[in-house]
Amino acid sequence: MKIHNTLTQQLEELVPLEGNKVRLYTCGPTVYNYAHIGNFRAYIFEDLLRRCIKYFGYEVLQVMNLTDVDDKTIAGAIKAGTSLDAFTKTYKTAFFEDLKALNVEPAEHYPAATDHVPEMIAIIRKLMDKGHAYQSDDGSIYFSVSSFPAYGKLAHLDMAGLRPGARVQHDEYEKENVADFALWKAWDAKDGDVVWDSPWGRGRPGWHIECSAMATKYLGESFDLHTGGVDNIFPHHEDEIAQSEAASGKPFVRYWMHCAHLVVDGRKMSKSLGNFYTLRDVLSRGFNGRETRYVLIAGHYRQSLNFSFDAMTAARSALQRLDEFQERLVGVAGNANIEHRSMVGTCSPLNVGSSELNVRCSSSSLLPDWAETARQKFDAGLAEDLNISESLGALFDMVHAGNRAMDGKALTPEQAAAVKALLARFDQVLGLLEKPRDTVPEEALKLLELRQQARQTKNWAEADRVRNELATLGWIIQDTPQGPKLKRK
Ligand SMILES: [Zn+2]
Repeated sequence: MKIHNTLTQQLEELVPLEGNKVRLYTCGPTVYNYAHIGNFRAYIFEDLLRRCIKYFGYEVLQVMNLTDVDDKTIAGAIKAGTSLDAFTKTYKTAFFEDLKALNVEPAEHYPAATDHVPEMIAIIRKLMDKGHAYQSDDGSIYFSVSSFPAYGKLAHLDMAGLRPGARVQHDEYEKENVADFALWKAWDAKDGDVVWDSPWGRGRPGWHIECSAMATKYLGESFDLHTGGVDNIFPHHEDEIAQSEAASGKPFVRYWMHCAHLVVDGRKMSKSLGNFYTLRDVLSRGFNGRETRYVLIAGHYRQSLNFSFDAMTAARSALQRLDEFQERLVGVAGNANIEHRSMVGTCSPLNVGSSELNVRCSSSSLLPDWAETARQKFDAGLAEDLNISESLGALFDMVHAGNRAMDGKALTPEQAAAVKALLARFDQVLGLLEKPRDTVPEEALKLLELRQQARQTKNWAEADRVRNELATLGWIIQDTPQGPKLKRK
């Protein structure tokens, strides 16, 4: 699997630092408001990345932080006249609801900054000890950019014009204002009651140190992959690298990936233009999370994505085509359906890009040629820096060819079941399909087993009870020479 590394500006093969596990840090939301669709573009890109890594056979350990103390959250809480905790809680809850609506796979950890202040202080202490940080007159601690010669390597900055001694207190600033940045901000009246004790007096952490502390705690001092939006490259990620590497003396992150902006109707999203949408705004217009996910996933992550309600309508028809195709396959597969249930996911991992590309997995021996071609193209697209357009193209070619085959009654039930399994396999990455109707839920399978046990012990009353319970769940039992099977009523 090849990915574009912002650090080297090259496509590189993803190779985990240790074993088979990819350790991934994704900068999470600043919980001062509902996240907007531009934010979700980044989270959907990261979800696609996560699912692809797994699809190609690696394990993932993902951390997404919640920034619940910074300039914006404090200002928001004060404006709302509530505590920082109560203020951010609303938006934390909303964020997780939104992720669910968009079918984003949960990360392994969602640490909140306010729970990790001691870890931040520990890093700042190291930086002070090593001479990479200093205390200013007001008591704040700053990172000394000139003490770290590699500063600027991620954003590819020309550091020649840096004015020595310049300092920036705010969490966000422009490249023109490269300067020593705040690690610890001494308390001032604007912070209200948001304050922690530190060896350098009362105050609160700067934004950048939060991510270094949480990433290091859960993923180690060196880990594989760090992502965010292009806006994060400077200063946030540049500063993360500087403070982490200066403190540990080790390379912080091997691969950096960044997704491009989202624009709405071709223009930068802004409240004043009236084209600023949270996910909730989009849903209130009658669209759903699945359609939104489709629009956000369908553009290559390194290209600017144009969001429009026309695109949402197009997503609705594309999804309808997929649903209908799946339904049709279910119909043709008939009884072959359930027997092939277990084939889903047996094909991965595939070492795409090598000669193994042509190795056929167990179900693909049943695949018609057009589906086999789709499988290869789909995988090859994703393996080339998440080239989703190529993968979606392969998917819709398959839908077209499959529909034609079914029109001509040229697809056997076994082939239909194999194509359906392939579709489900694609969906491990896409996360777009409705569950096919024939998927037997675990609950029903357990009941079927209970019934078998009851019959073996000749407990007919129990067997009947279980049969009735299955019936209320919508399943009937068919006894076949191969054993009992479940069928939709
Ligand atoms: Zn971050």
